[in-house]
Amino acid sequence: MRIRAVLTDLDGTLLEPDGSVCAEALTAVAALAAAGVPVLPVTSKTAAELAPLLARLAIDAPAGCENGAVVRLPGGTTELLPGAVPLAELVAVFAALRERTGAPARTLLELSDAEMSSLTSLDAASLALARRRQATLPLVVEPAWDERLRAALPEWPRLRLVRGNRFLHLHGDHAKDGAVPRLLAAAGARGGTIVACGDAPNDAELLARADLAVIVPGSAGPSAELRRCVPGARVAPHPHGRGWAAAMTTLLAADDGHARGHAARPRTRGAARS
Ligand SMILES: [Mg+2]
Repeated sequence: MRIRAVLTDLDGTLLEPDGSVCAEALTAVAALAAAGVPVLPVTSKTAAELAPLLARLAIDAPAGCENGAVVRLPGGTTELLPGAVPLAELVAVFAALRERTGAPARTLLELSDAEMSSLTSLDAASLALARRRQATLPLVVEPAWDERLRAALPEWPRLRLVRGNRFLHLHGDHAKDGAVPRLLAAAGARGGTIVACGDAPNDAELLARADLAVIVPGSAGPSAELRRCVPGARVAPHPHGRGWAAAMTTLLAADDGHARGHAARPRTRGAARS
């Protein structure tokens, strides 16, 4: 097996629930980089939030932001992807949706710093970056309301409501996997096994698109819905970053390109799956 690229969710997958990075995950990111395997984050975070995080992770690669609405290229340029709906339109639709359903829902933009901080553990500077959204609107609402809100959505066929592990996300008709072709092209990643890692139902399309899918458990175990959506996925042996790191270490040990050196390795029949 030769690993072409690792597409990975961040929150709860590579990162801890409080947004920190464990030492094992940092080591595994460095090992992938040393093996010449691009690590391409695909996240619900904004491009503004990603910049300091990528620096902390020492990842200099394109990244998918806002659930497949935006690609951030190295250097900080961003591109809106097909299907993305601008934020102002999402805010207007949400107001109508809330009025119609009576759902006790609020957007992330309506939360005070204290409320947002208690939900996300972000500091004040990070909160400002999380509010710099381009084309997704996270909502705070009990999951019991999800179906009632979705039932009111057909009036806006370009929009979707997708549950992440903290928020319900309102956005255009796109998912994280929509960023994959642009990310692989921008990273210059060709030939080999595409690995994808995630922890929540909003990672389902991303994992389903990969050749090899890894579900990273939370502290209460892996997401049952994600396992249903991607039944062939492997499950990492520990929660969050430690599990991500363990899964990546196992894959790297089986990466024949890694064993022979990335630049000089010859392609062998059957090594590439896509
Ligand atoms: Mg996640």
